[in-house]
Amino acid sequence: MTRVFQYLLLCCALLPYATPSLAEWHYEKQAIMGTEVSVQLWHEDSQQAEQLIDQVMAEFRRLDDELSPFKPTSELSRVNREAAKGAVKISAELTALIDKSLWYSDLTGGAFDISFATLGKHYDFRNKQRADEQLTESLLEALNYRHLHLDKNTHTLRFGHEKTKIDLGGIAKGYAVDRAVAILKAAGVCCASVSAGGDSRMIGDKRGRPWLVGIRHPRDKSKNAAVIPLTDTAISTSGDYERYFIDDSNTRVHHIFNPATGKPADTTAGSSDKLISVSIIGPRGFDTDPLSTSVFVLGKEKGLALIDRLPGFEAVVIDSNRRLYFSRGLDNPQSANANP
Ligand code: ADP
Ligand code: MG
Repeated sequence: MTRVFQYLLLCCALLPYATPSLAEWHYEKQAIMGTEVSVQLWHEDSQQAEQLIDQVMAEFRRLDDELSPFKPTSELSRVNREAAKGAVKISAELTALIDKSLWYSDLTGGAFDISFATLGKHYDFRNKQRADEQLTESLLEALNYRHLHLDKNTHTLRFGHEKTKIDLGGIAKGYAVDRAVAILKAAGVCCASVSAGGDSRMIGDKRGRPWLVGIRHPRDKSKNAAVIPLTDTAISTSGDYERYFIDDSNTRVHHIFNPATGKPADTTAGSSDKLISVSIIGPRGFDTDPLSTSVFVLGKEKGLALIDRLPGFEAVVIDSNRRLYFSRGLDNPQSANANP
């Protein structure tokens, strides 16, 4: 072998190592679970990154197929059709989701209640439809998480009231985001952000800098009310501005229900206890998602007190007068104006 050829061979052998790293950000968004699902991740290999994104999107679609109240073939729809007639066998996954939901119902004195759907199913925000007073009154008794009899050992669920229905819209997206993060972590991804509507979770940081997560101004789409630097955590936001309509008497009819009244939680301006936006920061979407819905229903005083009692969780809330408040652990002034 000539020296030149030997040298060339050596160069070829070294080539893959000598090439500068092609690592870069990969991004994808799709409409799934009635919202926008987005994934951003750092990867050295474009093909593997694409495959991971496909896996993540497939997982979101699988969960939508099982948990959607709008798909007659979903496990959730089957439960809603059958559980009032007798105990129904359900999957381990649905058992875990309902068990967690019931845990939050107990913790929040019923502010979080997946049986809100008993009345919620009569609302159609796009077509400005709602349950009238008579229907609300007649179904209010059936809206109560205590009617949900879950047996964690046999994986069965029975509704104790014939009119009760459930919907996991207040917890499913946070759970889905955790599942996506588990897929990416198992593949060794160092840095990623996954969002499904108002629920996001980040792996690591943004290559040396924190992720900057904007909390939307609840009354001006083009503005952020706050931007929070976050690393390796989850954040969920609940607001009265995503799915809503304004009725003839100028009331905002939105998608977060107060189980005590069976109607959308009151967010009319004037009271500093009424909230119009709630963001909860914590380790997992499975907790931040139900907590953001819960704090929204509980109001500022009770809601912030709850978060201050829970180690590892923080809150950023905006009241109906558009003022911003933080839980105790956030190193910020007590309140600030959301609309400077
Ligand atoms: P999204 O991320 O869809 O905006 P949120 O986390 O703000 O959702 O929760 C609102 C959703 O939670 C509603 O669309 C509905 O499906 C469900 N929900 C509404 N009120 C309650 C409640 N009191 N308890 C549990 N789930 C609720
Ligand atoms: Mg939520």
